[in-house]
Amino acid sequence: MITVKPSFVIETPIDGEFIIRHIEKCAKTCYKTEHIIGGFENAKMFVKNLIKRQHHSTLEHISISVRIICDRGVAGELVRHRIASFSQESTRYCNYVKKGIQIIHPSNLTKQQKIRREDHFWTVQDLYDLEIAEGIKPEIARGVLPLALKTEIVVSANLREWRHMFDLRVTGTTGKPHPQIKEIMEKILHEFRERIPVIFD
Ligand SMILES: Cc1cc2nc3c(=O)[nH]c(=O)nc-3n(C[C@H](O)[C@H](O)[C@H](O)COP(=O)(O)OP(=O)(O)OC[C@H]3O[C@@H](n4cnc5c(N)ncnc54)[C@H](O)[C@@H]3O)c2cc1C
Repeated sequence: MITVKPSFVIETPIDGEFIIRHIEKCAKTCYKTEHIIGGFENAKMFVKNLIKRQHHSTLEHISISVRIICDRGVAGELVRHRIASFSQESTRYCNYVKKGIQIIHPSNLTKQQKIRREDHFWTVQDLYDLEIAEGIKPEIARGVLPLALKTEIVVSANLREWRHMFDLRVTGTTGKPHPQIKEIMEKILHEFRERIPVIFD
């Protein structure tokens, strides 16, 4: 049993200028003005106005995939976003005997609270190992694993859906987001904002 930190990797190469230009080109089809292409500042203003007028479907022309390391609890919240697509580490097919289970602690636990949890997770590991040794398959033995189990999940979504996910999971438009999903999504939002400020400001 080891502990790991939540993290993420943006799997799709992000070229901010290409993204703005692409959305501009697609959206200008609506007005048959796609041949009128000006400077990048004009393109940014055009896309800003699309967002202001809630012409949000135009943001669906670009998708980004992000690989996220989080616990199973956070992943369970991520997969509620039906417009996105997911590929997730499977507790049916992965066997956690050899490498041992990996655990994610919430960042606000005290050292003592972490140690207390780790004692428990060692017991979980022993039980898991015992069941596998008895011939029980990983897909059944997984029943003893905790929500704190580390998982890896690739989330692919168009820019409209990413905005929606940030709205719910960082801004908290519909209620206070869970602190652990907020923590990781905030970092992803920061990265998106750096690269495509017009869309994620
Ligand atoms: C703070 C918070 C607390 C929560 N608590 C709970 C809880 O206690 N229990 C629980 O079960 N869930 C809970 N959820 C999950 C929540 O109910 C949603 O399932 C989740 O946030 C996904 O939101 P969504 O449906 O807007 O987004 P997505 O699934 O990402 O969809 C994006 C948008 O597409 C549209 N859309 C998608 N699918 C359809 C459809 N079938 N029909 C029509 N329009 C559609 C909607 O406009 C939707 O907003 C919570 C979420 C938050 C943020």
